[in-house]
Amino acid sequence: MSTEPDVVLIGAGIMSSTVGVFLKELEPSFSIAMFETLEDCALESSEAWNNAGTGHAANCEMNYTPERPDGTVDISKALEVNVEFDLSRQFWTYLVKKGAIADRVPSPTRAASSIRCRI
Ligand SMILES: Cc1cc2nc3c(=O)[nH]c(=O)nc-3n(C[C@H](O)[C@H](O)[C@H](O)COP(=O)(O)OP(=O)(O)OC[C@H]3O[C@@H](n4cnc5c(N)ncnc54)[C@H](O)[C@@H]3O)c2cc1C
Repeated sequence: MSTEPDVVLIGAGIMSSTVGVFLKELEPSFSIAMFETLEDCALESSEAWNNAGTGHAANCEMNYTPERPDGTVDISKALEVNVEFDLSRQFWTYLVKKGAIADRVPSPTRAASSIRCRI
């Protein structure tokens, strides 16, 4: 049997954690190795005090709703991002129901910490 993992994830922030969980859901037999240069996971941008802690649902970020030359507002990007945000929430809800993460996920750090232990 090969000792090489099927998947290598570099960095243990929320993105690698999420990708790792996705892959395990899709293919439970996958072996996944996650490499982190720091002493623990989610200490950089995913650390609770290193980001604003809001969800980017595109409801208020002006860069998602640029004004067109004619003065009307283009909301297509906001709609796209809002759908992506909702899909993320559905995925986290699924993980909560499955018991993979805690019922309360107040920050990306806690999400990553919860997920880390189960990959
Ligand atoms: C000031 C600020 C405010 C923000 N506010 C929000 C917000 O309100 N809402 C929101 O949704 N998002 C927000 N974000 C964005 C969000 O925090 C990031 O998009 C998200 O945390 C990125 O996760 P990540 O896993 O990609 O990166 P990180 O959490 O940074 O994880 C990357 C990891 O990779 C490790 N690494 C790097 N290079 C290597 C290597 N060569 N080998 C091994 N490990 C390596 C790092 O040490 C780190 O642990 C904010 C970001 C910032 C900076």
